Amino acid sequence: MNFQEIKEQEQRYILHTYGRVDVALVKGKNARAWDMEGKEYLDFTSGIGVNALGYSDPLWMAAVAKQAGEIQHLCNYYYSPQNTALAQELCEAAGMAQAFFCNSGAEANECAVKVARKYGEKRNARNIVTLWNSFHGRTLTTLAATGQDGFHRDFLPLTEGFLYAEAGDISGVEKLLDGSVCAVLIETVQGEGGVIPLEEDFVQALSALCREKDVLLMVDEVQTGIGRTGAFYSYQNYGIEPDAVTTAKGLGGGLPIGACLVSERLRNILKPGQQGSTFGGNPVVCAGAREVVRRVSAPAFLQGVREKGAYLWERLLSMPQVELVRGKGLMLGVKLKQGDAHDVLVRCAEQGLLILTAKELVRFLPPLTITREEMDEGLGIFEQVLGKTEE
Ligand SMILES: *Cc1c(COP(=O)(O)O)cnc(C)c1O
Repeated sequence: MNFQEIKEQEQRYILHTYGRVDVALVKGKNARAWDMEGKEYLDFTSGIGVNALGYSDPLWMAAVAKQAGEIQHLCNYYYSPQNTALAQELCEAAGMAQAFFCNSGAEANECAVKVARKYGEKRNARNIVTLWNSFHGRTLTTLAATGQDGFHRDFLPLTEGFLYAEAGDISGVEKLLDGSVCAVLIETVQGEGGVIPLEEDFVQALSALCREKDVLLMVDEVQTGIGRTGAFYSYQNYGIEPDAVTTAKGLGGGLPIGACLVSERLRNILKPGQQGSTFGGNPVVCAGAREVVRRVSAPAFLQGVREKGAYLWERLLSMPQVELVRGKGLMLGVKLKQGDAHDVLVRCAEQGLLILTAKELVRFLPPLTITREEMDEGLGIFEQVLGKTEE
């Protein structure tokens, strides 16, 4: 099949929920990928922050292949050593107490919502506060948690019990905490919302306020987690101790996994039968995730992410067409002085560089293992495309 045939097949047989770019990747190595005709791309998307160790990492591949050849799945009525080992390693890296495993970010947030409702149930506190411009997933409950009306349209009614506050406005949050609220859920860097980091003062004040009002502080680390911001979890940059953390994207290194992690005070909050997932904690996925956690949690690896992020930031900011750079670590948003971010994305793909957008910004989420040479090559293409946009 050639590309045109694949495109026709997609048009005919797949629901058009994605605005796709004309690229079909068939092979990859770290931050490089190739399409069917052998054209090479620098990939600064890592599949939206999923391929934390890049494409075809040899140790990740070996862990996954070995486990697939031993036992590929078992139901959660039995114990799985890969599953329990990952839970311990992940909780230790995250500073949390227990994990519930599922298959995606939205499901991890669904679990956090159930944890929060359960926590508030006795005193009839059922509402959850999230922030305007947040993104928490596509299920009807996580859509309700998502503070962007555009995502809600056409799908009403959503799950009840979500209230929204303005990021940075601590008194606005305080007004909402009237005894009906069991939890506050935040992204420390709003990803889909335009790569917007929350201010440290706001996050620390929020943490103190939640403690004072006996409201859970839950952090959605689906995009920011697993080393993406240069800390194992982004909340660790803020010096706070959340009650629950949700994680997915980068955790599996390319295979589907999500987790809701809870702190010591929520130990065993959910009882047998109150939450479950057929695939959750699958041993093949867990074997790969263990390799991701082992590598990414090493202080030298995280230091490397911070250094690469700083290098990209500096290079991007030095480009005359760039108005501003924001984000943290290897999660960067670039605002251009002129030109449409999506047009730039399409032109970059034509020239062999894959990037993302977030609102009106260009977004970079390269694999955490990207090399200096790969960064330089991709930046070169980006610079060239921006130069042409200006003409
Ligand atoms: C991607 C994302 C989600 C949803 O994850 P899925 O795996 O697509 O369900 C939730 N929260 C944040 C912050 C995300 O970036």
